[in-house]
Amino acid sequence: MSKISERLKNARIDKGYCVICGEYGFLSKDHVPPRCATTIQPMFQKTVSEHYYAEEVRPVNARWGAIFKTICKNCNNVVLGSLDNEIGKPIENFILQIKQYLEGKHYYGNIIPVPFNALLFLRAMVGHLLAATSVEVCKKGAISSDYYLPLREFVLGKNSDIGLTHDFYYWFYPNKTQITAQLTTFYNEGHACLCCCMHFFPIAFLITFKGEGTYPVHSSKLELEDKNLYFNMTQRNLDYVSFPFVPLRGNQMTLITSDFTSASYPQK
Ligand SMILES: [Zn+2]
Repeated sequence: MSKISERLKNARIDKGYCVICGEYGFLSKDHVPPRCATTIQPMFQKTVSEHYYAEEVRPVNARWGAIFKTICKNCNNVVLGSLDNEIGKPIENFILQIKQYLEGKHYYGNIIPVPFNALLFLRAMVGHLLAATSVEVCKKGAISSDYYLPLREFVLGKNSDIGLTHDFYYWFYPNKTQITAQLTTFYNEGHACLCCCMHFFPIAFLITFKGEGTYPVHSSKLELEDKNLYFNMTQRNLDYVSFPFVPLRGNQMTLITSDFTSASYPQK
């Protein structure tokens, strides 16, 4: 019998430290990618390295989609719950426009603009991405490093200066496999970039330290004063849509912390 995915041990926890606010208590289940922007369907789930490099590992049966039990009820229902529409509406609009684009509607420069509220969209995306982590964090206490603390406080509405410490990139993601990853380092020509990401149809989303970023050429940088998301629909960079999990060339490396990654794909 083949080995079952390491993701399984992440499903069995009741109480712990919330990875967003840091409070100890009962943990609640959050869908990542968020329920408001995806169709809930039975998925198979593995870690990213199992998904790409260990086909023989049996996936976890995620009947209700990819779920992470890592945040408290308040962060789930009040903080993130109140922001659901901020992701749901732009994603719905983008999917509609992709359809029009494929049917031949002209878009200047092949760029699809999608209206959104940058601040609220970003808080929601960062919040759900933070929830997609390992239960080990819930056992030990939320991470307060230079990378995580500003992001956690930004989600809680206590830090409006997130643009001073972090950069955010996004691009069109055409695949059905949903990927979340934290504590991943992409090494390119002597430069190491710590990043976390959340990819689900139709968007890929990447967080890096400010000015340290390595990102695909067709990505757009999210600025808090933006009125639209701008998706470059070029097909030239299809190899790079799953960045940082991409074919490596020359002096490149991807360092993965397995427990902090997840790849889910539909059972049908
Ligand atoms: Zn919390």
